[in-house]
Amino acid sequence: MTTEYDKFYIGGEWIDPASDRTIEVLSASTEARIGQVPDGIEEDVDRAVAAARRAFDDPTGWAHWTPAERADAMERLAAAIDARSTEIAHRISNQNGMPITTSTGIEAVFPTTLLRFYAAVARNREQEEHRAGMIVRETIVRREPVGVVGAIVPWNFPQTLAFLKIGPALAAGCTLVMKPSPETVLDGFLLAEAIDEARIPAGVINIVPGGREVGAYLVAHPQVDKVAFTGSTAAGRQVAETCGRLLRPVTLELGGKSAAIVLDDANFDEQTLRENLFVSTLTNNGQTCWLCTRVLAPRSRYDEIVDLITDMASSATVGDALDPATQIGPLASSRHRDRVEGYIAKGLGEGARLTTGGGRPKGLDKGWFVEPTVFADVDNNSVIAQEEIFGPVLSVVAYDSVDDAVRLANDSDYGLGGTVWSADEDRALDVARRVQTGTIGLNVFLPEINAPFGGVKASGMGYEFGAEAIGGYEHLKTIFRR
Ligand code: NAD
Repeated sequence: MTTEYDKFYIGGEWIDPASDRTIEVLSASTEARIGQVPDGIEEDVDRAVAAARRAFDDPTGWAHWTPAERADAMERLAAAIDARSTEIAHRISNQNGMPITTSTGIEAVFPTTLLRFYAAVARNREQEEHRAGMIVRETIVRREPVGVVGAIVPWNFPQTLAFLKIGPALAAGCTLVMKPSPETVLDGFLLAEAIDEARIPAGVINIVPGGREVGAYLVAHPQVDKVAFTGSTAAGRQVAETCGRLLRPVTLELGGKSAAIVLDDANFDEQTLRENLFVSTLTNNGQTCWLCTRVLAPRSRYDEIVDLITDMASSATVGDALDPATQIGPLASSRHRDRVEGYIAKGLGEGARLTTGGGRPKGLDKGWFVEPTVFADVDNNSVIAQEEIFGPVLSVVAYDSVDDAVRLANDSDYGLGGTVWSADEDRALDVARRVQTGTIGLNVFLPEINAPFGGVKASGMGYEFGAEAIGGYEHLKTIFRR
């Protein structure tokens, strides 16, 4: 059975799209056609932005509700999404190849957890702070919603990444136009059904799937007040250029090439630590922004660590994303597989030593599969150690001393995630403090709802997660009192 939609959810209604263009959705595991939705064009974006604008500018509307009223609506939306969470996970895995255990554990859970978290934050914070002045008698510092948000998300965690924007934006009092990626569109229609059912006011959240031209049009739209973008660094630079020209606030969550620094006392005897290593390096078939795809291993234990990583990759169960036994599913699209295979060819061309993988798994003739692949003897300056591959491809780089490991970790254009592995957590913490990155984990990498997440250098600007994320959707207005 396929999933078909022929209308967009814009301005609180299901309306006909402006064109008859469509997006055909294929299963990443079988390449079978699994659905079709309308493809957004500029006129659809115009209508969605106009609806978000009306909802924001309404003098008694969403932006003027009390935080508690908005929090109630967010909790209603969470309940409506909960009722669809199994189907959301299924659609996502079917589209982008995410192992069903990952989509059930993350994509089915994070949207509602984030909504409830930001609803609670909204309830518990003051909108105005009164401060005694040093020049004037008093100032009132007010938090005001920034306005209409153009939110653009990639295909790798389509719902979690959407709710990292929807949660804080709604809590702040903003309205949104969401543009999902063409690779993952079916889950967004379930979200639209949930918004409808939860009676979120018309125009507060509008959804227009479409390609990069539609994304660029939304970013530059004159009626948009803020852009929240997650995607590649190349696209992020274009978004930043537009926002720079327009002086439009922007949050950019971009690519990464994070390092796993294995210290010489790291002990992987425990099964949990080996599982943590898998989660930190290969989650979602290598299609996760923060993955530690550069493993930095001490020369004294180099062969042992290469064997460990090789064994971890070669023993992973590769298969259909919908099979609960699958640990590594297919890549999200045929075009993306070509790109990943291009990097594997580059690695071989650069003289890195392939220890496992490198090809397509036997017996999986349909679907965009790539074998989990490990390269040893990788030079940190090589293309496969410097560029984001975004597939199940790991590089093991040797280091001589802890200073050398920190230097190699920081010798990257990116700064998004990272891990340090050691039997001595204090020692790992000392090293973690020296890595130039937005986030880093000790003996595992797992983002935390309650703490900010963001990148430095080419990995982006601004924060998602944590109460801090709401600040990205607010202006601070100061009122002086004599
Ligand atoms: P992408 O940059 O090709 O596309 C991301 C989204 O932006 C899509 O919706 C796309 O249609 C749109 N888009 C592309 N070019 C655009 C432009 N010029 N203007 C406006 N919109 C545009 O990225 P992708 O391949 O879909 O996703 C993978 C990338 O996302 C990786 O680089 C990954 O690291 C990054 N990512 C980052 C984070 C983070 O939190 N830092 C999280 C997940 C993914």
